Amino acid sequence: MPEGRDAERHEPVVLSVVIPMFNEEDVLPALVTRLRPVLTELGVPHEVVAVDDGSGDRTPELLDAFRLGWPELRVVALRRNSGHQAALTAGLDRARGAYVVSLDADLQDPPEKIPDMLALARREGLDIVYGVRADRSSDSGFKRWTAGVYYRLMRRLAGPSVPAQAGDFRLLSRAAVDALKALPDQQRVYRLLVPWLGFPSGQVTYERAPRTAGRTKYPLGRMIRLAVDSVTGFSAAPLRIATWLGGGAFVVCLGLLVYTLTAFALGRTVPGWTSLFTGIVFIGAVQLVCVGLLGEYVGRIYTAVQNRPTYFVRHDTAVPAPVPEPTPTPAPGAAPAPGAAPAPASDGTDGEERRVPLPRA
Ligand code: UDP
Ligand code: MG
Repeated sequence: MPEGRDAERHEPVVLSVVIPMFNEEDVLPALVTRLRPVLTELGVPHEVVAVDDGSGDRTPELLDAFRLGWPELRVVALRRNSGHQAALTAGLDRARGAYVVSLDADLQDPPEKIPDMLALARREGLDIVYGVRADRSSDSGFKRWTAGVYYRLMRRLAGPSVPAQAGDFRLLSRAAVDALKALPDQQRVYRLLVPWLGFPSGQVTYERAPRTAGRTKYPLGRMIRLAVDSVTGFSAAPLRIATWLGGGAFVVCLGLLVYTLTAFALGRTVPGWTSLFTGIVFIGAVQLVCVGLLGEYVGRIYTAVQNRPTYFVRHDTAVPAPVPEPTPTPAPGAAPAPGAAPAPASDGTDGEERRVPLPRA
């Protein structure tokens, strides 16, 4: 079934730009002002997939308003806030382009680099082009430090193919997107999954700008969650920490045993509250840490077994609303025809509710 304007014009989409956005009303006008001319100048059939990640502000209304004058803008609205990576998944799942660029809404990653990415991918036949931050001086010292630790750790865990300082600004070929879509992973961290795929890749460097407007949607709690998902998604090494801690504690215990027996033999056994208390607290803490680590992995198994979708699409403006079947109007008071099924509430495969698209400009 043909979908959307581009398909109606039988023009295959060359480039999709996927932009997850959550409460980005402040930055949206600036984003449109900068992104649109870049794509127009590029001169290839394109679509901009704005994934509204359950925004509670005016983001949906603004998107609808921009769509009236920008036919290439497509809005995929999620039912509720599902998180940056899940919103990205929704966009990648639905993007139709031969190449797909993912971009943050806050203009920290410059849209002006998109033509360079596309040109590099086409010229050298690459499947992945990373946007790599050459300069992060606009980020806070704390963010730069945590990012440095994060990338060093990730390169150890997921291999040296993980480019340092590459966030979620990247270009993927259709083959790479299809490979990602085929993965069963639920708690996805794309900055690790993409290099792990092993496709030929290149880089485009840029200076990371400060957020143009609005506030970060990655407070410390979410950064920690991303780091935990990154580690547990790629390595079982933390589980071995329990073994090492257990081994270390055993050696310490042997030493303490010698000390205790000596003290007992010398008759100096009564004072000992401090050492006893410290020992109990230490062992308790070690056990809790180990149980917590185990819990993270059990949690992943639990989520994988549940196998629930990570997002629900409320509507996608590129998917036309179903044309209702003409049903004969029953005579007033007549009983429904035998065997007549109630009208389905939705025809989507993922609990999606179709909405009539806005009139085209
Ligand atoms: N985002 C999202 N859902 C969320 C959190 C963030 O779609 O639950 C989007 C956000 O609108 C932005 C991108 O993810 O386009 C990156 O977020 P942000 O710029 O706040 O992160 P930071 O750059 O501060 O790490
Ligand atoms: Mg940002």
